[in-house]
Amino acid sequence: IKIKITNIDIPVAFASAFEGEIIRRKNMQVEFDGSRVDCFELVQTKDASEIEDHKIEVIGPDFDEFEFGSKHSIAYIVEVAGKSMQSDFESVFERKFHSYINCIEGVMHTGQRDMIRVRISDTAFQAGFRAKHIGEVLYAKIKNDFDAVVDKCQVKIYTDADKVTELRHNLAIPAFDKRDDRLKSLTDESVDVYYSCILCQAFSPSHVCVVTPERLGLCGAVSWLDAKATNELEPNGPCQVITKERPIDERIGEYEDVNEAVRKFSQGALEDVSLYSIMEKPMTSCGCFECICGIEPFSNGVIIANREYAGMTPLGMTFPELASMTGGGVQTPGFMGHGKHFIASKKFMKAEGGIERIVWMPKDLKEQVADRLNATAKELYGIDNFTDMVGDETIAEDPETLLEFLTEKNHPALAMEPMM
Ligand code: SF4
Ligand code: ZN
Repeated sequence: IKIKITNIDIPVAFASAFEGEIIRRKNMQVEFDGSRVDCFELVQTKDASEIEDHKIEVIGPDFDEFEFGSKHSIAYIVEVAGKSMQSDFESVFERKFHSYINCIEGVMHTGQRDMIRVRISDTAFQAGFRAKHIGEVLYAKIKNDFDAVVDKCQVKIYTDADKVTELRHNLAIPAFDKRDDRLKSLTDESVDVYYSCILCQAFSPSHVCVVTPERLGLCGAVSWLDAKATNELEPNGPCQVITKERPIDERIGEYEDVNEAVRKFSQGALEDVSLYSIMEKPMTSCGCFECICGIEPFSNGVIIANREYAGMTPLGMTFPELASMTGGGVQTPGFMGHGKHFIASKKFMKAEGGIERIVWMPKDLKEQVADRLNATAKELYGIDNFTDMVGDETIAEDPETLLEFLTEKNHPALAMEPMM
């Protein structure tokens, strides 16, 4: 017998009304910041015999042993078992942590995997909120939302910095790498179906993401494997199977089946969509894209800006300005929201010539994607260290200076056909 958990045993409120709550530094009792110290969140599938249901363990000091306003390491591992549990579901559960933890009054969560940040407010702390309560929330929500596949669940919360570091390197990173490798071996050609995602229709009613192995959702959080797992967990949920049996134009990645799906899921707002072009029938954007790419007419190329980038781009627009003309679920040829991972994909604007068109990216983003992007450039075009040819804000924030730099580097986009 499965029992729905309606009451979560914590000393503060739990409701979606708290999801957008911001905790300022001056009200911050303690912070766990994965960009500064080792932190991670992880779901692991175990054998039922290894799990004591509802066991919540805290390994390391509790919140009252930390100084007001201090930063520490944290890791929470949710171990689950169930006859129908699959390891492909782990990342889908993990993605929910963001919303679960944010629903706690006085607790803020951002990020995922080992780049999380969690803040506990002074008022939540004074109300008695401690480490084990994070476990209570995760336990209750996982058991509730995924009762079809999770029979038993236990949570381990580590605040011992050395232990977190050790587990991050020996357990979490290998687990994340294994998932990424599994996805890396898949191509759009090697699978029989794609998936739709309409999770963002709450904010962007006509938006549909078409998720393929080589093109993840524009939020960066839904890979093809995640969409597949979501579909298996929730057959009537946001991710539906899209067949790809009737290609219309392989060059831009257009399929009759995909068009039909997009028409249906956008309630007729969208006629047709291509998977690989930003000029012809590009995919729509909601509002949560990790990056925006936009055409830069002077160089025949495109620039990419990521959400974290606060400065100016050579298009004379900042990220928010680019976002205001890209979002809303409408097709805007020449501009497209996308996930960070898509930048190194062989399918990135393949119709327009692919990643060779990239002429500018913020330095931080360039560093994040360099290894994968350079490997793709080497494989597709035989170019070594492609990112050395790509401008950034330290090189140029205007089109003229950028063009000088690109000319000096002999950037391949300069010799390509104009995009419009
Ligand atoms: Fe789904 Fe796309 Fe929204 Fe991501 S951006 S949640 S893939 S609809
Ligand atoms: Zn969205």
